[in-house]
Amino acid sequence: MSAAETFRSKHPDIPVRILTVDSALPYAKPPLSKGFLRGREEKRDLHSAGWFVRNNVDLVRGITVDRIDVAGQEVVTAGGQRYPYWHLVVASGASPVALNVPGADAALTLRSYSDAVALKMAAHYADSAVVIGGGLIGCEAAACLARRGVATALVAAEALPLQRRFGIEAGERVEKILSGNGVGFVGETTVTEIGDDGVVLDDGTVVEADLVVAATGVRPDIRLAESAGLETRDGRIVVDEHMHSSARNVYAAGDVALAHNVTAGRRIRAEHWRDAAHEGLIAGLTAAGFSAAWDQVPGFSCTIGDSVLKYRGWGSYQDYRLVDHHNGFTVWYETDGEVVGVLTLNADEDHVRSEDLLRAHAG
Ligand SMILES: Cc1cc2nc3c(=O)[nH]c(=O)nc-3n(C[C@H](O)[C@H](O)[C@H](O)COP(=O)(O)OP(=O)(O)OC[C@H]3O[C@@H](n4cnc5c(N)ncnc54)[C@H](O)[C@@H]3O)c2cc1C
Repeated sequence: MSAAETFRSKHPDIPVRILTVDSALPYAKPPLSKGFLRGREEKRDLHSAGWFVRNNVDLVRGITVDRIDVAGQEVVTAGGQRYPYWHLVVASGASPVALNVPGADAALTLRSYSDAVALKMAAHYADSAVVIGGGLIGCEAAACLARRGVATALVAAEALPLQRRFGIEAGERVEKILSGNGVGFVGETTVTEIGDDGVVLDDGTVVEADLVVAATGVRPDIRLAESAGLETRDGRIVVDEHMHSSARNVYAAGDVALAHNVTAGRRIRAEHWRDAAHEGLIAGLTAAGFSAAWDQVPGFSCTIGDSVLKYRGWGSYQDYRLVDHHNGFTVWYETDGEVVGVLTLNADEDHVRSEDLLRAHAG
């Protein structure tokens, strides 16, 4: 959407088309594991159907792109339709990583609007739930389910929620937030089976549940890119700071892309809403013939119940120090003594001032 909208704003008359397998109008994903799942009817459409007509953006929904013909400059759908392009932006995102245990099909996932609707309906009829995965979406979804009155357990391989990404002290505080929302956290365990009564853990314990959610991470699908011969690395499409891929007039943006960030001076993995939108904007500007480069510090926010965690930073770090505040905290992540990431809860001053520090030390 971001790439198409940006291109359209620069060239009112050149045809713009969006092909998507999703049957819904393009929507914001962050609310799906927050207010929407909790029961509020939050606005999620990025534009009305009329916007696409008024702006002459041809939105083709429910269609799967199967192949990119780089030499012929066209994309081919699963049904064999061919769409020629002059410039192509690949923004195909990521999909949930499948759980590889018996009964895994019974677990619901949360990536699309239709997933969220299915989960919300299942939650309506459930008394108990198990969420598998102690990452951002697992924590958010578990808190929503518990706040809806569903007795919810969050099970994860890590000892503490969000520990792998943010460290032990942050994990301890997140566990308290979860428990304050009514979520029971079960760490250092793996699910070996999903049965009719709930999930079986590796020590044989059965955690009973009417509803099982697998929030076990996402992975970009780069088969399209690979078969078209685009350069890929770490499971993503390699692009420069302008979002050019290795093929002429083909760009990539968002979760599927591994883009060069000029502030960091290296390629950065960012799998967040604001970063995807910004990369899309740059791809749209580049395709439209304007000069633009990705220089923003990546970041996101995560809402667990009523607690909003905010992160900004370059990802990896050597050490961290946590400072508690009256009703929140700040974790400063450092490499060689310089700040390379900042996680805050109710500490917006630190969040705001982190921008300059992070720009100065790209990690
Ligand atoms: C429930 C949920 C909550 C989130 N919360 C946050 C948050 O709070 N903060 C944050 O920063 N980030 C959050 N994220 C992550 C954020 O939504 C993603 O980083 C962002 O959506 C990535 O945008 P994208 O355009 O790269 O991919 P996507 O939004 O995944 O869009 C990709 C689109 O391409 C379509 N597609 C894929 N393959 C094909 C194909 N072969 N043919 C046709 N169409 C195809 C897909 O159907 C989809 O419509 C959340 C994600 C989810 C799922």
